[in-house]
Amino acid sequence: TLTDRLSAVFRNLRGKTRLTDADIEATTREIRLALLEADVNLAVVKEFIQAVRERAKGAQIHAALNPAQQILQIVNEELIEILGGAARPLRYAKKPPTVILLAGLQGSGKTTLAGKLGKWLKGQGHSPLLVAADLQRPNAVNQLQVVGERAGVQVFAPEPGNGIGDPVAVAKAGLEFAASKLYDVVVVDTAGRLGIDEELMRQAAEIRAAVNPDEVLFVVDAMIGQDAVNTAKAFAEGVGFDAVVLSKLDGDARGGAALSIAKVTGKPIMFASNGEGLDDFDAFYPDRMASRILDMGDLLTLIEQAQKTFDAEQSAKAAQKLLQGKGEFGLDDFLQQMQAVRKMGPLSKILGMMPGMGQMKDQIAGIDEREIDRIEAIIYSMTPAERANPKMLDGSRRARIANGSGTKVSDVNSLVNRFFDARKMMQSMAGSIPGMPRKQAPQ
Ligand code: GDP
Ligand code: MG
Repeated sequence: TLTDRLSAVFRNLRGKTRLTDADIEATTREIRLALLEADVNLAVVKEFIQAVRERAKGAQIHAALNPAQQILQIVNEELIEILGGAARPLRYAKKPPTVILLAGLQGSGKTTLAGKLGKWLKGQGHSPLLVAADLQRPNAVNQLQVVGERAGVQVFAPEPGNGIGDPVAVAKAGLEFAASKLYDVVVVDTAGRLGIDEELMRQAAEIRAAVNPDEVLFVVDAMIGQDAVNTAKAFAEGVGFDAVVLSKLDGDARGGAALSIAKVTGKPIMFASNGEGLDDFDAFYPDRMASRILDMGDLLTLIEQAQKTFDAEQSAKAAQKLLQGKGEFGLDDFLQQMQAVRKMGPLSKILGMMPGMGQMKDQIAGIDEREIDRIEAIIYSMTPAERANPKMLDGSRRARIANGSGTKVSDVNSLVNRFFDARKMMQSMAGSIPGMPRKQAPQ
């Protein structure tokens, strides 16, 4: 993957004291290959590599950083730039209701997004209305009604008198209804086809003309790779849009589509969808995406999510320890992290957001919920001193703990080993993030 390739490049650079031309060539060659393999558009790759190469050469003069940091910083900054710089917020109409039109292929995630947006808007203090203007599939209206109900958001559906069978009429009627009932944001769900076709484009363009939206959001499945670029181009020409929503970012394809679409359309990516649940949704942050592509993990997202679920103070302390290596990371912290992970959702999803997962995957894939219970029991059977300083866990202490927690000594051993591995990994991780002090792993 792109992520693995880039981290391999940076591993090779580690230990060198300056960046030679040969280093730059070797590095950019690897990055180029990795991007192409990740399905990034060729034109985008070329331009990207050129920018990185130029900057790397200029940066040589001020080579104060270590080479890996230097390249990492450049690649990171260039990625962020392509991905749109800062997050672009939703634009609200001066005179409500604000109209948001969703466009995209069938299955791209529009209807799901309508629910997510509705819930999110409500959370921001708005009173949204979802309008069911997808009359193509027999079940489409019902699907939106179900989603709206789950989100606790009102849905406007076609009825006799407001245009059954005519999506343009339904969209217009929805708008009038919203204005009369003081809904301040209207989200219009539209029909998609399996492929790009004239009829679909014409219909979406007609709805657009009829409702004059403040934002047209193009919804695209991040997993369709290179096709995403062609689809985006077709929608840009056929309907036109203001911003992109990337859906299904919880899948494997993490970088290629985002990079290509942003560059080729020149439109900002506004939201990211990463799951089927209504809360699997957030504003799109270019810097986070860039660090995710670089396998620096989506630390910020992870921390934010932890704070949502947790006592903010507690998680801030843990995050600080994790990031800065402040204080000694002990078994108490380990347990807390693990419980945090459990509260945040399915492990597989959290893993995608954690740094260095390439190497850790196998190790963590084996941890299931019951194992977390066991780990909890073992750590609770330790004294505070043992938790803070696991080095003191000799044979007789381990036997006592196994006994107290109803586990085997081999369980205690494997937990302690895993803890030391995790601590080592976190410390090396902290050192590879620019601006973050490296803490020596204790011997
Ligand atoms: P539409 O045809 O554009 O309205 O797409 P839908 O909203 O009906 O979504 C199509 C399928 O993709 C549904 O099964 C959704 O549950 C699923 N889906 C939508 N967004 C996401 C996402 O972000 N992640 C995942 N894993 N599935 C999604
Ligand atoms: Mg739909």
